[in-house]
Amino acid sequence: MSKKNNSLKLIKYYNLINYNLVFNNKAINRYMKDNFEISSNKIKSLESLKKSIINLKNCDLKKNASNIVFCDGNPKSKIMLIGEAPGANEDREGLPFVGKAGMLLDKMLASIDLDRKKVYISNVINYRPPENRRPTEEEIKRYLPFILKHIEIINPKITVLLGSTAMNALIGNETVISKMRGKWIEKKFGNCRTSVIITFHPAFLIRQPAQKKMAWIDLKMIREKKTKLRI
Ligand code: URA
Repeated sequence: MSKKNNSLKLIKYYNLINYNLVFNNKAINRYMKDNFEISSNKIKSLESLKKSIINLKNCDLKKNASNIVFCDGNPKSKIMLIGEAPGANEDREGLPFVGKAGMLLDKMLASIDLDRKKVYISNVINYRPPENRRPTEEEIKRYLPFILKHIEIINPKITVLLGSTAMNALIGNETVISKMRGKWIEKKFGNCRTSVIITFHPAFLIRQPAQKKMAWIDLKMIREKKTKLRI
C-alpha cells in the first residue's frame, strides 16, 4: 500500500477514535455530568424534534416562510430563552433574534455576563407569521407541543419567557405581563423542572424604552439566580 493511502487511513482512524479526546493530555473530568453520551442523545432528540416540525402538514406559516427558525446558542446551557416568532431577518437567516430585537437581546444578555454561547434560544412559533403579525391562538396551539418538547430536551434550570406570547402559551392566558414579570415561578414541563421568569420582549422595549428599567430588574434577578444555582 502507498504511503499516501496509509496516511489517509491513519487520519480516518484517528477521527474514528476521537483523536482529540484520546491524545489530549488534559485529564478527563469523570465527574462532569455533561458527558459525551448525554449531549449526543440531546443532539439526536433535537434533530428529531426539528424533523417533526419540518414534517408538519397544513400549516400556512410554513408555506409562506423561507426557513425554519429552530434555535441558536448552546444546547448544553442551563438557561433557555423563549421568544414569540421569527421576523423577516430571522426568516432569512434561519436563526432566532438576529434583527433589531436580537441586537437589544444581545445587549441585555451582556449586561449580566451572558452571551449566545452561554444560553439557548428558541421561539414558541418556528416559522415567520406574514407581515410580522402576532401568531393566532390556533397557530400557538399547533406549535405548543413542539416548544414543550424543546424545553424538555434542553432541560434548563432557568427559563426566560420573552414577552406575552411566550407567557400566555407556557404559563396561561389569564394573566397580563406587567403583573407577571419579575417573579420566579416553579414549573414542570414534562420531566423538566425549571424556574421560570417572564420579562418584556426586546421589541416591546424598543417601542417603550421607559420600561427598560423594569427589564433591568428582571435581568438582575436572572443573574442572582444563576449565581445561586451555580450556573
Ligand atoms: N422576535 C421573536 O420573538 N423572536 C425572534 O426570533 C425574533 C424576534
